[in-house]
Amino acid sequence: MSLFFDDTHSELQRTVRRFAETELAPRAAELDESQGFNLDAMKKLGDLGLLGVTADPEFGGSGMDVIAATLVMEELGAVCASTTLSYLAHAILAVNNLSANGSREQKQKYLPRLCSGEWIGSMAMSEPGAGSDAFGMQLQAKRQGDKYILNGSKMWITNGPYSDFFWVYAKTGPTKRDVTTFIVEKDFKGFRVGKKLDKFGMRASPTSELVFENCEVPVENRVGEEGTSGGHMNRNLLVERVTIAGISLGIARAAIHYATQYAKDRKQFDKPLFDFQMVQKMLADATAEYLASRSLTYEAAAWISREGPGSKSGLMLGTSAKLFAAQTATKVALDAIQILGGYGYTKEYPVERYMRDAKLVEIGAGTNEIMRVILARELDKGQLPGV
Ligand SMILES: Cc1cc2nc3c(=O)[nH]c(=O)nc-3n(C[C@H](O)[C@H](O)[C@H](O)COP(=O)(O)OP(=O)(O)OC[C@H]3O[C@@H](n4cnc5c(N)ncnc54)[C@H](O)[C@@H]3O)c2cc1C
Repeated sequence: MSLFFDDTHSELQRTVRRFAETELAPRAAELDESQGFNLDAMKKLGDLGLLGVTADPEFGGSGMDVIAATLVMEELGAVCASTTLSYLAHAILAVNNLSANGSREQKQKYLPRLCSGEWIGSMAMSEPGAGSDAFGMQLQAKRQGDKYILNGSKMWITNGPYSDFFWVYAKTGPTKRDVTTFIVEKDFKGFRVGKKLDKFGMRASPTSELVFENCEVPVENRVGEEGTSGGHMNRNLLVERVTIAGISLGIARAAIHYATQYAKDRKQFDKPLFDFQMVQKMLADATAEYLASRSLTYEAAAWISREGPGSKSGLMLGTSAKLFAAQTATKVALDAIQILGGYGYTKEYPVERYMRDAKLVEIGAGTNEIMRVILARELDKGQLPGV
């Protein structure tokens, strides 16, 4: 529950919690070990209307707000954070982006397939040489008659090996802001999925490189006019940051629940671990930090739902939520390992997976340092929080 939830949100929370227990929990550990992908669960999220959670209902979406999208991430993230990261890449990075910024024809063509789960989607912004400095991207798109020819590569693309639809940012001019979006289908000539990456965490979320070698994209797959994508790229990044904070909340909550139960069950010196005040301190701090992250995240989601992702309040709150919730998830998961002692350090228990998954949230969607850069920049511009 949250004060930011209405009845629809609360019902959604119950539905997603049940779904996570039945569809994600049984395979989470095995898929982490094998670096598999729960494609079946992804498709079933389409049956629940969640693949297009925020998308336009006219084209198969559910038209819900960012609070709803965030709570879905928290509930799924508490059980299998890596499947949730793949879900986020599809529902927020690809589908929400298309729904908010695509033309009517583009939405008509692609949204129904993406919302139903017939197609899986990805968003490709980062490159081997352009991560934090996303506008430093080098992928070039040059117009030739009724097509664009794309050359270059993208890196770290979530769902890359499974996607049918790619929302791709490319350069169409000489300046950093000359960024244009293109919709690329997996079978387009000159496009291929490169190496799948072997990762420390989020292992059940496939990540790959994308390669564009004279890739041909029809002009009708350009989104908006040339050089106009920078603004909507930033707006969708904010929605990504708040919803990925939802995954951090899920991980932190799961770690607290697991460590608390373990501390009550396990005895040393003839007492449950829970009776030792140093263990209580770790759990009490974790609880306060999780609840603070949760309040901040849902407040940010509420502002963005009300005022849109271009609002100043949404920017400061959403950036802070991303930073604080990610740090909380990693710290809490590390403390959960400490509470489980040697057992926590083994793959027999889920807390080491929570920690490996949490670390990604301090990097993906903009690193902790970049969140601080954005907050400092806003302070420098005279934006003050809480006024
Ligand atoms: C599992 C995973 C999934 C991902 N999914 C996607 C996806 O679907 N689509 C996509 O486009 N991208 C995706 N990314 C890319 C992700 O957004 C980038 O990894 C991230 O933005 C950081 O970029 P980088 O890895 O190139 O690190 P770098 O930018 O090289 O940064 C390295 C270090 O330098 C620090 N640093 C950089 N600049 C500054 C600065 N100005 N001030 C202080 N410190 C700084 C960083 O904080 C970091 O600690 C994914 C990444 C991972 C790991």
